[in-house]
Amino acid sequence: RHAGNFGLKMSKVVMVGDLYVGKTSLINRFCKNVFDRDYKATIGVDFEIERFEILGMPFNLQIWDTAGQEKFKCIASAYYRGAQVIITAFDLGDIQTMEHTKRWLQDALKENEPDTCSVFLVGTKKDTLSEAECERTERDALKFAVEMKAEYWSVSAKTGENVKDFFFRVAALAFEQS
Ligand code: GDP
Ligand code: MG
Repeated sequence: RHAGNFGLKMSKVVMVGDLYVGKTSLINRFCKNVFDRDYKATIGVDFEIERFEILGMPFNLQIWDTAGQEKFKCIASAYYRGAQVIITAFDLGDIQTMEHTKRWLQDALKENEPDTCSVFLVGTKKDTLSEAECERTERDALKFAVEMKAEYWSVSAKTGENVKDFFFRVAALAFEQS
């Protein structure tokens, strides 16, 4: 899609969800294998590019993070446009953020052609919940996922649990969509 990258497949992944749910941390864990317990508002970061090889073919994922605009719940349409994958993130310990994912998804889908995006619902900060608490929340999350036609995952950027598997799955679906 870009001069100089001719022939190299590139897909766009956008990450949405309420402020503070852990979007930037999840990207940083996967792309840089780091975790920062201190909150730093995301400023001016547009995307990370991650290389994959799928079926022997080099493949790039452009993973877009918001630059803090989610605070105002008004992300520019250019952010969403042309996405093959939409990741809607919520904090497993904050049910309200789960309820807000539908709105985030709507906004992102509005800017794309019908049926061109794969959707994920991802519960974050799994390390902060007991197994019982997690199960209870996930029962609701799975219902949400069905309604959103999304694939559900739970992750922890802190421990790294499920992070790689999650992004490999994202890459696989992005590859199919591209
Ligand atoms: P964003 O606003 O959605 O980008 O959220 P951030 O990634 O900046 O994370 C907000 C806060 O949650 C930070 O203080 C992170 O350290 C913390 N956080 C993010 N992911 C996790 C996680 O998996 N476990 C725990 N315990 N804290 C997390
Ligand atoms: Mg952020």
